[in-house]
Amino acid sequence: MQKNNILIGKVNDLLVKRFGIPARNNNLPDPLDLLIATILSQNTNDNNSFKAFQNLKTRFKSWEDVIGIKRSELEKIIKVAGLGKQKSQSIKNLLAGLSERGELSLRFIEKLSDEEAIGTLTKFKGVGVKTASCVLLFALDRNVCPVDTHVHRTVNRIGIVSERTPDKTFYSLNERFPKNIAHSFHTNLIRLGREVCKPSKPNCPECPILKVCAFIDKNLNKVSKSSEKKFMLLDNI
Ligand code: SF4
Repeated sequence: MQKNNILIGKVNDLLVKRFGIPARNNNLPDPLDLLIATILSQNTNDNNSFKAFQNLKTRFKSWEDVIGIKRSELEKIIKVAGLGKQKSQSIKNLLAGLSERGELSLRFIEKLSDEEAIGTLTKFKGVGVKTASCVLLFALDRNVCPVDTHVHRTVNRIGIVSERTPDKTFYSLNERFPKNIAHSFHTNLIRLGREVCKPSKPNCPECPILKVCAFIDKNLNKVSKSSEKKFMLLDNI
């Protein structure tokens, strides 16, 4: 584990050297806003999920108002983010569950440990470990690194963990994660995965991690550079 933490620190330094320290919101977003934005972001790009989130925020004064509309109407409003039926159902379930507790707020999770907060959030249908851990990192500023498809692929290729699923990768990676670097590590790794370490043709000659990466199938042929994809939804809620 100590060895892994040293490697995580090294990778973080190399990523910061290439991409810089990622920008963050000056004020932490509301945890419920952040959770709904993360549900909208599943299986789509950050621009489309941001549009869907803005559609909701401009149309409704509060989440209370969303409880009063039909699921099919909600589906139409968030259509641009895709998977409208599934996402509208998850949002409806979440709001109904919170309403039953007596308050449309997730502020109560601020008092919970990381494990307890993830356990509580994943009880809502449609909220998995990745979505829950995004709330912890982006809304509660916990030192937790969410694992999406890019983080899963890159940390396994680099050799930081050796796991088959994103959820298993999450638990291995976050066992005693080095202090204060989760946001920078997570955000820069997503950028690495989108722009350099792509699923089928990683651009290894251009990669800042090349000298510490253990991936045996490195692609050492030049690949034309991808455009930069800096916009990160969850830092803009
Ligand atoms: S060296 Fe290649 S495989 Fe390793 S992280 Fe970089 S792009 Fe991915």
